[in-house]
Amino acid sequence: MANMQTQKTKMCIQQPHVRNKNWKEVALGYTFDEAKNEAARCLHCKNAPCISGCPVNVQIPDFIKEIEKGNTDKALKIIKETNALPAVCGRVCPQEKQCEARCVRGRKGESVAIGRLERFAADNGVCEEIKPEKDKGIKVAVVGSGPSSLSCAKDLCAMGYRVHIFEALHLPGGVLEYGIPEFRLPKEIVRKEIETVISAGAVLETNSVIGKTESVDELLDAGFSAVYIGSGAGLPNFMEIEGESANGVFSANEYLTRVNLMKAYRNDYDTPIKQSKNVCVIGGGNVAMDAARCAKRVGGDVKIIYRRSEEEMPARREEIMHAKEEGIVFELLANPVKINADEKGNASSVTCIKMKLGEEDEKGRKRVVPIENSEFEIKADTVIVAVGTSPNPLLKSTTPGLESDKKGRIVTADDGVTTTREGVFAGGDAVTGAATVIEAMGAGKKAAKKIDEYIKGLSK
Ligand code: FAD
Ligand code: SF4
Ligand code: SF4
Repeated sequence: MANMQTQKTKMCIQQPHVRNKNWKEVALGYTFDEAKNEAARCLHCKNAPCISGCPVNVQIPDFIKEIEKGNTDKALKIIKETNALPAVCGRVCPQEKQCEARCVRGRKGESVAIGRLERFAADNGVCEEIKPEKDKGIKVAVVGSGPSSLSCAKDLCAMGYRVHIFEALHLPGGVLEYGIPEFRLPKEIVRKEIETVISAGAVLETNSVIGKTESVDELLDAGFSAVYIGSGAGLPNFMEIEGESANGVFSANEYLTRVNLMKAYRNDYDTPIKQSKNVCVIGGGNVAMDAARCAKRVGGDVKIIYRRSEEEMPARREEIMHAKEEGIVFELLANPVKINADEKGNASSVTCIKMKLGEEDEKGRKRVVPIENSEFEIKADTVIVAVGTSPNPLLKSTTPGLESDKKGRIVTADDGVTTTREGVFAGGDAVTGAATVIEAMGAGKKAAKKIDEYIKGLSK
């Protein structure tokens, strides 16, 4: 927590009671001096353990050295060799669980702020994009345009493939565009980084739902030598409790899409969102924090209901801290058992039962057990359910031979990206279920290599 406090004072300029009413970015970047000072803390360890904590193996000590020397452009060039979206990752990677978790400095104090330095390089550096190899004249289709697909597409373009990205929505970016809110990840930043991927040579076709507009088979028949599926996990899970169909109950996905993609909070848009007095958000991950902080900005009192304690919350620590500062109340160790509605069918409250932590399960996570007769009610005219998502079954149901597991995740070989259907590869949330941006990107990169090997194998 000491780490969080120092970062907080450095990074957040707007007071919480001001920023919880606007959509400006909350965490601000380092100045040149701050970046140089932070970079000087890096010990440039031999076999730097931080690198293996990054799913795309950014060469961390090398880029940090360049920042220390004042060579921001060179720092960015090093990062971009392995990471197609550094301004995004520097902002949203859960670094405390990834690269920074392995930083030697962290053993006895604060780890080096690798993510913030990466953001600094991305926001302030300029570098030429990597030149693609000679055009191979071979077409590869990429389904979806989230981080996984973008990173796969960029690597394939660099290898000289002709890449077509098919995106179901009218804008590219996946969760980066429709899920993560503006105050955490400005859309201008997302679009700028996507532009660098598209300018690497990929053709983007929006409003193209593979499985409806065209099937995977039709793509293969149309001359695409391989298909990468990076379709994410956009199907919301519900709790399956009484009252979940009441008016005013949203999945976090729907709520966030309305706010972020359809700009429901803006008066000049035709897609308004419900004005609420009391909002309950159910869940403890990043999605719950984002939904709660959006709801706060739309207006109303907001509570997060989570069945475990704060320690077990999967959300990034910084998001939890920002949510609290912005006035969101945490109702911990409470599990919703029913959503109550008025005579018109509008949500009016959530009945919860108190929980206590029990013994650890096989994963070392404490079990939660309900406390008998401890039910209580929380007022709510809006309830946002953020208890996870699953992959959409459309591609599995329209692609013969493509297997998925009970949770709808596409089944792959041990390499994590080769599916049960020849010529079809997959990665990101579509395979792992909801995970992180950088893990999805790591899978996209791995798939690009496997697709290259597969296509080379076809001509042998
Ligand atoms: P997605 O980003 O979901 O992209 C999939 C794309 O495929 C979408 O654009 C979708 O429209 C498209 N698509 C789906 N089906 C089809 C089809 N049939 N045809 C064509 N296109 C299709 N991770 C972090 O690391 N840090 C965070 O702070 C963080 N916060 C998050 C906050 C929210 C609100 C959410 C929802 C997720 C968050 N995550 C975070 C998780 C992270 O965003 C995902 O793990 C990541 O985006 C997965 O990338 P992906 O490319 O696999 O899928
Ligand atoms: Fe760390 Fe993410 Fe950057 Fe990798 S991409 S070094 S995990 S911040
Ligand atoms: Fe620097 Fe930490 Fe990586 Fe060592 S582990 S090279 S100190 S960032």
